[in-house]
Amino acid sequence: MPASRVLDELLSRRSGPLPRVAVIGAGMSGLALARVLTGAGFGVRVLDKGRGPGGRLSTRRSADGGTFDHGAQYFTARDPLFRSLVEAWVAEGVVAEWHGRIGTLTRGVVSPAKESVRYVGVPGMNAVAKALADGLDVRTGVRVERVEREAGAWRLTSETGEDLGLADVVVAAVPAPQAVQLLAGAPVLAAQAGTVGLSPCWAVMARFEAPVAVELDGAFVEDSPLSWVARDTSKPGRAPGERWVLHGSPEYSAAHLEEAAEAMAPKLVEAFGQALGRDVRAVEAVAHRWRFAMPSPPLDATSLFDPALGLGACGDWCAGPRVEGALLSGVALARRIADR
Ligand SMILES: Cc1cc2nc3c(=O)[nH]c(=O)nc-3n(C[C@H](O)[C@H](O)[C@H](O)COP(=O)(O)OP(=O)(O)OC[C@H]3O[C@@H](n4cnc5c(N)ncnc54)[C@H](O)[C@@H]3O)c2cc1C
Repeated sequence: MPASRVLDELLSRRSGPLPRVAVIGAGMSGLALARVLTGAGFGVRVLDKGRGPGGRLSTRRSADGGTFDHGAQYFTARDPLFRSLVEAWVAEGVVAEWHGRIGTLTRGVVSPAKESVRYVGVPGMNAVAKALADGLDVRTGVRVERVEREAGAWRLTSETGEDLGLADVVVAAVPAPQAVQLLAGAPVLAAQAGTVGLSPCWAVMARFEAPVAVELDGAFVEDSPLSWVARDTSKPGRAPGERWVLHGSPEYSAAHLEEAAEAMAPKLVEAFGQALGRDVRAVEAVAHRWRFAMPSPPLDATSLFDPALGLGACGDWCAGPRVEGALLSGVALARRIADR
């Protein structure tokens, strides 16, 4: 089955006058929800403040014309629905297995990590978001600031004061701290979202002239300001070169959260050298601050929804702190909205 149909045909097609749905956030969860409801016949609009869809499933260009996956690194697939979607994406070339050598790195000492099937988007992680967004009504570059009650519906307004129209059902598919304000019309849901924190992550995109000599393509780093490093160019379908993504640990990232990106890049490249047990010099190193990277811990509910008000929320902070959890949260909320 084509990947698009896995979600498009998940629910039976509804008829009659259906509520207008607005989804704030075109990450994995918001796009999954939009696909399922659009497939069931609902009119769904997705709004995102980013330049393109994807959220934390994100890919950036490098100066040598290659790319870096500076957010989600790879994903696993355990749930049957997600597995069938991933298998279809693999068949379509949107996703491939990453056969990189994964291990643990502790001050120059390498040890193997647990075996796992790891998938990545091709040619970058954001290919998955692009595939999910294909054919949907998605508008990017617009930050929704207010969701206010008007004539039994919800009026959305952007941060620039632009009227974004009315919707009967509004979904905040954004990280929990950002959902709180958007859920102000449903104080109980806003309070629930307010209990979830997301730890930050400084991500450095580093390019090297020559291959970094280490018998690993991805590593969980211990005893270091870093928690993860990956040779991005070892992933399938990437342009040649030697590009690495370095992730600061949650503790280190939180302690340095407000520092300038220009200051963070050399610090984390140096930490990479310490983890390897020798100096490394990057020819390009750019840092990105993920203010909300990983939920800690997520809610014990796959989604939030008030059917009477028509306000809901989904995301990795509901179901599980990963790409798979985000998608399943979006699907779960789509079912609740369709059953409303
Ligand atoms: C550094 C890092 C590494 C990670 N590594 C992995 C990994 O290896 N494996 C894995 O499975 N997961 C990983 N994750 C987690 C994974 O990326 C997330 O679980 C998943 O992508 C979350 O999807 P989401 O839809 O819940 O949220 P998001 O992807 O955050 O999407 C939310 C969207 O909402 C938009 N938005 C927010 N506020 C507004 C607003 N007011 N108006 C309009 N738009 C708004 C944002 O622009 C964003 O596009 C990682 C995350 C990070 C940051």
